[in-house]
Amino acid sequence: MRATDLNLEELLDFDPAGGPIHFGGERVVLMDATALGLLRKELVESIGLTGARGILTRLGFSHGWRVAETMKDAYPWDSEREWKVAGGRLHHLFGMVRFEPVEPREGGPAPFAESIWHESYEADQHLLYFGQSDEAVCWTLTGFASGYLSRANGREIYCVEERCRGKGNAVCRMVGRSLEDWGAEAEKFLPYFRTRCLTESLAMTAQSLKETERKLRSRRGALARAAGAKDDAPSGIVARSPQMKKLVDLARRAAKVDSTVLITGESGTGKERIARFIHEESARAAGPFVAVNVGAVPENLIESELFGHVRGAFTGAVQDRAGLFEAANGGTLLLDEIGDLPLPMQVKLLRALQEREIRRVGENRSRPINVRIIAATHRDLGQAVTAGTFRQDLYYRLRVIELKTPPLRERKDDVLPLARVLLAEAAARAGRKITGLTPDAAAQLVRYDWPGNVRELENAMERAVALATGNRIDVDDLADEVRMALPATYIPGQIRTLEEVERDYILAVLDATGGNRGRTAEKLGIGPATLYRKLKEYGVTRSAAT
Ligand code: ZN
Repeated sequence: MRATDLNLEELLDFDPAGGPIHFGGERVVLMDATALGLLRKELVESIGLTGARGILTRLGFSHGWRVAETMKDAYPWDSEREWKVAGGRLHHLFGMVRFEPVEPREGGPAPFAESIWHESYEADQHLLYFGQSDEAVCWTLTGFASGYLSRANGREIYCVEERCRGKGNAVCRMVGRSLEDWGAEAEKFLPYFRTRCLTESLAMTAQSLKETERKLRSRRGALARAAGAKDDAPSGIVARSPQMKKLVDLARRAAKVDSTVLITGESGTGKERIARFIHEESARAAGPFVAVNVGAVPENLIESELFGHVRGAFTGAVQDRAGLFEAANGGTLLLDEIGDLPLPMQVKLLRALQEREIRRVGENRSRPINVRIIAATHRDLGQAVTAGTFRQDLYYRLRVIELKTPPLRERKDDVLPLARVLLAEAAARAGRKITGLTPDAAAQLVRYDWPGNVRELENAMERAVALATGNRIDVDDLADEVRMALPATYIPGQIRTLEEVERDYILAVLDATGGNRGRTAEKLGIGPATLYRKLKEYGVTRSAAT
């Protein structure tokens, strides 16, 4: 028997009255092609294109493999070759495609197998649910051909579509080669045949969850606007002060180019938020934003964390793993606390930035990367260079554009709008109805210096929400250090007379001691009579002050 002799009448065994159907002796079921199309749609929507393609490719592969196995002994083949080439004919008989063999091409090495598929059911279904694709879409079909040929030839043969109706070609054209003949090109399709692409699809799902979180977080912007901060940038950045307005403007311009950015500023000043803002305003916004605190990763793991590793590269490396550079491909990678990066890693990072490629730990080939790097640090890197703890060449490579996030004490105009946004968020999280700040509490927030910056303000609002008894935050709901803060003698951009400064200061100390004049005089180092006289000048009577 020859492959071309196979026909449905002989292969199919069924009772016209119904019941189990057999094909080549194996039980088969009739399945509506549109139902398979719906399954494909469900898979793509639930686990993403990569995962769906992997599952359908492997479904096709195991189908092809099984058919090859059962057909081997089911028929008296003229030769083993007839059985080996029967896969295409069987594909045809299953109704998946109309199969047309291709004569070996002239010149150049002939592929192991080659055929033309007309009327692919899979291209139909893909076009129906997703429209025209940029890539070939007959995943179960190439899987089937690969599975059949691999089983029949006892070695790995992989079939790929050079042309596909799903991407606008008139017909699908499949080419099969052995794994060795594919060489490095195999990397493009091999993951779909292996379960590895499921791991990758899980990583993508995790990424899309992060994206959703990001969208939720950017509602901060909406909250900020609700709190009256209409000039603010998106991403919840409150920018009323000239310092912040300038920073947001610079960040927006930095976003338009693809250069490396270095963000410096004290802890808690919102460096990550600025980095995210740059990403969201850039052409890479649709790609991933990946942030890593390099200072928090143990020194022996940092290289693998950033660049990935191959299985067996070190104890505990049980499988190949992509690093953060690869995870951020097409997007932005924030290397936070870059000043804490150990010197040996600094060399490797510099090389990656210069060559625009990385090498997984334990692998001797390089992989190109397409990532925008933003580095951030609370350290003075210039000083670290002088001290020899940071490489000068890397420093210059990173600070193509340098942005400084100002400390909160230098942007006092932002304190109250920011406090209101953070308060609204903390109240929403706690499910409490807190409408705002009392004037005294507001004044105290502005007085305080916020050494921990925005992060400290955020914690203060969270704490105040937890402690507040009324529906507004009062001075008593603030932490001691905030409550006791005295007015600054110097506020940038504002010159006051000594008399005004003295008055504010004395009244603030009186406030801080709960109106106790004896303790106030003592703290200020003046006599009680002097204090009494001054209070009288300010029009503060005993009853009002106590
Ligand atoms: Zn196709």
